[in-house]
Amino acid sequence: MLNFEVLEEDGASRTGALRMMRGNVHTPAFMPVGTNATVKAMSPDELKEIGAEIVLGNAYHLYLRPGHEIIRSVGGLHRFMNWDRPILTDSGGFQVYSLSALRTIEEGGVRFKSHVDGSMHFIGPAEAMEIQAALGSDIAMVFDDCTPYPAEYDYALNSLRTTLSWARMCKEHHDTETQRRGDTGTRKDDNMLNSPSRSVTASPRQALFGIVQGSTYRDLRRMSIEGLLEIGFDGYAVGGLSVGEPKEIMHEMIRFIGPLLPGERPRYLMGIGDLLDVLVAVEAGFDMFDCVMPTRNARNGTLFTSFGRVSIKRTEYKADEGPLDPECGCYTCRNFSRAYLRHMFLTKEILSMRLNTVHNLYFYLDFFRRMREAIGRGEFRDFKRSCEAIPWNEPDP
Ligand SMILES: [Zn+2]
Repeated sequence: MLNFEVLEEDGASRTGALRMMRGNVHTPAFMPVGTNATVKAMSPDELKEIGAEIVLGNAYHLYLRPGHEIIRSVGGLHRFMNWDRPILTDSGGFQVYSLSALRTIEEGGVRFKSHVDGSMHFIGPAEAMEIQAALGSDIAMVFDDCTPYPAEYDYALNSLRTTLSWARMCKEHHDTETQRRGDTGTRKDDNMLNSPSRSVTASPRQALFGIVQGSTYRDLRRMSIEGLLEIGFDGYAVGGLSVGEPKEIMHEMIRFIGPLLPGERPRYLMGIGDLLDVLVAVEAGFDMFDCVMPTRNARNGTLFTSFGRVSIKRTEYKADEGPLDPECGCYTCRNFSRAYLRHMFLTKEILSMRLNTVHNLYFYLDFFRRMREAIGRGEFRDFKRSCEAIPWNEPDP
């Protein structure tokens, strides 16, 4: 079992520690998204410097390019991208749903057309487990059928049944393979070049998380959770939210699902990274988050600050000598002016994406650190209230 300890509680919100062979992750945790075996625009050293403890990789993308067998042959994903801290891999269920041009759901998986070159592929539970085993991630996700929104009740029920049967197949496959590989001996991917984990001899057991589906129907969400608990996973994730439903419904589902998930296991809300949504989820007891928001927005010149959202291209910053966010301690804010960041962005310099990403990710990781501290002091509600006054969601003026 994955070692997870709840450290402090404040209402339903909690801090905790996920202890893994490649390092500890403090929760609530934000996982920067490293789709193509890179968190775009950031080197692994820079990620460490701003305090990232875990990153997310995408099985779907790495399966298509460069291919999971190639990554296995060069020593696994950690070695390939030179990241020696934990990695969670997404199974590909969501990407098959959101990216592939054509997908047909069959009993044993999904047949789909690659969004890269149009070639046809098939991924089911066994394939998704094989791909993630080849990548050698620390936490793997089950292969799920992401239910679109809106979905009729019967459609959502069928989709949920598919997800549950696939979850069982993933667990069986994962258990068999884990046993077959055994728990001793050094794996090739543990011998990272220039990394402390080089000396580690124990083979890490890959943890496996189940995914709750069930659209916006409470009884289906409950059925999904009961089914997953019966199978038993190292952690429980919630999928199928932020797929087009109104915010009020998303928040209602988060508040409903949180308390139903077992408290002694990590709870992961997939793909949701709007900070105000994160606050709602942490209040409901969620521990893990991932989202492309900070990185994607950074590249588009939209920056999150302690006073709200900043669109760096605005004319008012033309000769602004001040830092982007006077309260931020990141490399970008300590060394560059808004005028310079605006100029970098408008001239489409590579440095623009780098400096903006450093800031946005630092801001996110710092937000999570401050949130953990507030929970530790028993002041999460005050922290949440003070954040709700910040206009992070205002459209750019
Ligand atoms: Zn900054």
